[in-house]
Amino acid sequence: MKTIYLDYAAATPLDEKVLAAMRPYFSEQFYNPSATYLAAKHVHQAVEDARATVAKVLGVRGAEVLFTAGGTEANNLALHGIMQQYPDKKIIVSSIEHESILALARNYHAAEAPVLPDGIVDLAALARLIDDDTVLVSVMYANNEVGTVQPLHEIAEVICGVVATRRKAGNTLPLYFHTDATQAANYMDLHVSRLGVDLMTLNGGKIYGPKQTGVLYVRAGVVLRPLVFGGGQEHGVRSGTENVPGIVGFSAALELVQNRRHEEVKRLQGLQELFLDLFSEKIPATVVNGSRKKRLPNNVHVTLPGEDNERLLMALDEAGIMAAAGSACSASNEEPSHVLKAMGISDADAQSSMRFTMGASTTEQDIRRTVDALAELIA
Ligand code: PLP
Repeated sequence: MKTIYLDYAAATPLDEKVLAAMRPYFSEQFYNPSATYLAAKHVHQAVEDARATVAKVLGVRGAEVLFTAGGTEANNLALHGIMQQYPDKKIIVSSIEHESILALARNYHAAEAPVLPDGIVDLAALARLIDDDTVLVSVMYANNEVGTVQPLHEIAEVICGVVATRRKAGNTLPLYFHTDATQAANYMDLHVSRLGVDLMTLNGGKIYGPKQTGVLYVRAGVVLRPLVFGGGQEHGVRSGTENVPGIVGFSAALELVQNRRHEEVKRLQGLQELFLDLFSEKIPATVVNGSRKKRLPNNVHVTLPGEDNERLLMALDEAGIMAAAGSACSASNEEPSHVLKAMGISDADAQSSMRFTMGASTTEQDIRRTVDALAELIA
């Protein structure tokens, strides 16, 4: 029996083309990119070519692209990198951020901007939280549990307005905007000038690239305090000999997913619609969580009232179907999801909720088999 994988928000398989691009840098092209001989210079060039590829996708300069070991590290570098310079100032994050933002922000003077019941950040409430001491705002591009896409451009406009007012008043404190685009990179526009962000996190492990690879985009002129000190690689902000296969793999993956994103969005939107139609037909009590419109095309998040999600997930697993109760991105704990809580969903309903995230291998047949299996388990 074919297994069905519906947990692409947790991990994506490495694309074959990405693996092929990486392979030489594990073996014959193993040289340290900082070494002086010609062979090493070729490896250095591969890193710079990868940087240029990423920069092109984002519409930025190569010098604004920093390679990291994953999304968590990029988020840590962005937040600590700014906030350690302004320990008395304030950071605002949304209440539905990944733990690598939320847990980090709590080390500083932090405020959490609420979300509306549809899982979209409350723009007016966010604007009210920004005061003269705020130095950083971090709002994710798309949520990893319910897939809601956040209004980055509108938030950037609010921030621009604050910066202009500050300037007039002679307040020189900067106000930066960071976004964690980990879940958005497969399906959304990543052109930084259109988003209006100063810092952006990308994560190789969610875009059919290698795990423990990532990027932090840092707008020219934004100074970060390093987390890791050493040989001064990555403009001195992220020392350590470069993970060359990882960097090459990351850039190949980003280019691939962005090149095919329009086609893939259309295909997945069709499957998402089918998924939801089948739920309402076969399990009419199903409640869909999160905005239907402002949502990643691969995410279906539902509450099946009165059902125990752990039981259903185990039974689905036995039937060869892999899905999730919430986020697999934090080590499993028994606490109900902070994202669902922030959306006003009760603990009981949270424990009856499931996340299905589709991807490159997902077919119509997979969706039909999954809803049929669930309907049978509930009957
Ligand atoms: N940010 C978001 C939105 C995520 O979904 C994840 C998932 O793992 C991360 C950050 C952390 O990524 P990683 O664990 O690969 O560092």
